[in-house]
Amino acid sequence: MKDRFAKFSTWDSLLSALSTLRHVSASYRGSNDCTGWHLCQNTKRASELKKTERFILRCVQRQDFKAELEVIEGKHYLPRNRRIQDLSPYIDDVGLLRVGGRLNDLQGSGLASLNHVIVPNGHVASLLVHFFHNKVFHQGRAITEGAVCSHGFWILGGKILNSSIIYSCFVCRKLRRTPQEQKMADLPLDRLTPGPPFTTVALDVFGPWPVVTRKTRGGSAQSKRWAVLFTCITTRAVHIEVKEDMSSSCFINAL
Ligand SMILES: [Zn+2]
Ligand SMILES: [Zn+2]
Repeated sequence: MKDRFAKFSTWDSLLSALSTLRHVSASYRGSNDCTGWHLCQNTKRASELKKTERFILRCVQRQDFKAELEVIEGKHYLPRNRRIQDLSPYIDDVGLLRVGGRLNDLQGSGLASLNHVIVPNGHVASLLVHFFHNKVFHQGRAITEGAVCSHGFWILGGKILNSSIIYSCFVCRKLRRTPQEQKMADLPLDRLTPGPPFTTVALDVFGPWPVVTRKTRGGSAQSKRWAVLFTCITTRAVHIEVKEDMSSSCFINAL
């Protein structure tokens, strides 16, 4: 079953396909109101998707933690060399292997689900990391890891898996790469030819500033003034000329 999950490239597609298949198989068995092979809106319900999620996780756990599950079901302690022994795993009421903690007394009251489901490192784990990485809009490793954890999954070797997925993520590579530096063009001949200042100039107009142009009785009249900045492009000398308005004739006068 786990190998068939490898045919899916996203967590969403795996979830919806498995949800449909489970629904269809139930309708052939006669355990729901539907009949035969069909696409059904019922499969998109949150409760159905949750059941399918548990089914998928149970499948991968049964395959990867076969020995561990047998030991736990047999009520023996895990052998020392088992990789999940440090997590003090236990099997919850729906048959999922979860990280043990200090909340074991809450089992049966629904709060046992506060403990993370152990997900073995593999295709399903990388689908989950991809899903939550997209969900947090391609943020970094810590935030992706946090999103996976806060949705109740404990991925074995999750840190390395996270890093490798983010490293190979196309969007992240695009967003996080260093900006390219522009290669500047050759300087124009005017800037390289020595000569008297202001032989060749560049200019810009800036402003306006309000200035007091006329004192009136008990006040003052203000008008706007602009400035033209001439810069010699050989020597970088600067000259500023005042402009009284923005008309062409005023500019020609300043020039
Ligand atoms: Zn149906
Ligand atoms: Zn990304």
